Amino acid sequence: MNEIIQSCTSCNHTTNLAECYPRCPICNEPLNVSLIESGSINYEATWSDPFYIRYRDFYPYLDNTIKISLGEGLTPLMPLENVAKELNLSSVYVKNETLNPTWSFKDRGSVIGVMHAIKNGYSKIGTVSTGNMAASIAAYGAKAGLKTYIFVKGDMLPEKVNPIAIYGPKVLQVKGEYSVLYEQSLQIGQEKHIAFINSDVPMRIEGSKSIAYEICEQTGFNVPDFVIIPTSAGGNFRGIVKGFVEFYKAGIIKKIPRPVCVQSAGCAPIAKAFLNNEDTISHFGNTSTIAPAIGNPNPPSGNEVLRLLKRYLGLAVTVTNCEIIKAQKQLASYGVFSQPAGAVPLAALYKLTDELIPHDSSVALVTTGGGLKDSSVLGKHKLDAEVINISELSYKL
Ligand SMILES: *Cc1c(COP(=O)(O)O)cnc(C)c1O
Ligand SMILES: [Zn+2]
Repeated sequence: MNEIIQSCTSCNHTTNLAECYPRCPICNEPLNVSLIESGSINYEATWSDPFYIRYRDFYPYLDNTIKISLGEGLTPLMPLENVAKELNLSSVYVKNETLNPTWSFKDRGSVIGVMHAIKNGYSKIGTVSTGNMAASIAAYGAKAGLKTYIFVKGDMLPEKVNPIAIYGPKVLQVKGEYSVLYEQSLQIGQEKHIAFINSDVPMRIEGSKSIAYEICEQTGFNVPDFVIIPTSAGGNFRGIVKGFVEFYKAGIIKKIPRPVCVQSAGCAPIAKAFLNNEDTISHFGNTSTIAPAIGNPNPPSGNEVLRLLKRYLGLAVTVTNCEIIKAQKQLASYGVFSQPAGAVPLAALYKLTDELIPHDSSVALVTTGGGLKDSSVLGKHKLDAEVINISELSYKL
């Protein structure tokens, strides 16, 4: 096997894997860990082994004696037969990432990122986040017993800060531009030897690739034609595509699903650039979205997502707040309570089917995070509950 390194997604400049720095020192585009092009699934992994043991051939750089798993990954893939029938598709699946330890897919990247930081001698970790990633890093930092720094937005409400603070990290509510904070955290991390495990660092991509591996196994290696991914920074999108490419190169699957990037109409820097045929994204001004988890106006992996969309015949689309709320309710009607960001793939499916996603296609929707994380949005639904007297019970049924 060739040495495993990090290389720039744009100019191919290479750096040492031990450096917990996510961007190219030459062109400032994001870095990727080398493609792992051979390997097989470890069917001897037991049900209590973490996902990276099951797929250990594809994580050769990890030190598996570092045991900080919280049981992330290995989530269900659930068919939505009614939707498939309604839209004349051969199958529609939900990859239910709401079932992770801190209720979002972020836990996959957190476990890999924190293991990598520990292996490389870091005793301090951190992240910059609007919510899910903060809770996830705080949980793994607690489990690993590391000093953990969480930078969140200055105006974050206590109801959102508290579910992060409960794990006991140092939470700093920082006022100012969020994308500047991202860059600065990387700088400070280098100076103070803190591993900042931000949204699109190489090890987060490595965590997210397991979503693709699992979809391969759960469809009996008959992978879907399309995989629809809610996209903000672009890390999860990159990871899922990398996972399919690796299994394809290793001969485990016969085709690479076409990736679909979905964004909110009120914050769509990647979709806008894609639809305008541009090679680079530009800052999206005046954002407004009901799905804050996909609200990054200046996604650090935006240009790389555009490159991947081109390379793998992907699609990009936007959905409105109204469509998101409708999709959230519809998913709940099948028993899956997702937060708004996790519902956007279903909304996108309705937009794309017929014209861009042809009949009889098979599609996987990545439902990225759980609904209880964002209860403020429930007021947008018409949810009835009736107060009655105990004596009235029999009339009401
Ligand atoms: C982080 C997050 C996303 C966006 O993922 P990126 O890697 O930033 O593109 C989507 N949905 C949920 C629920 C998230 O927490
Ligand atoms: Zn570069």
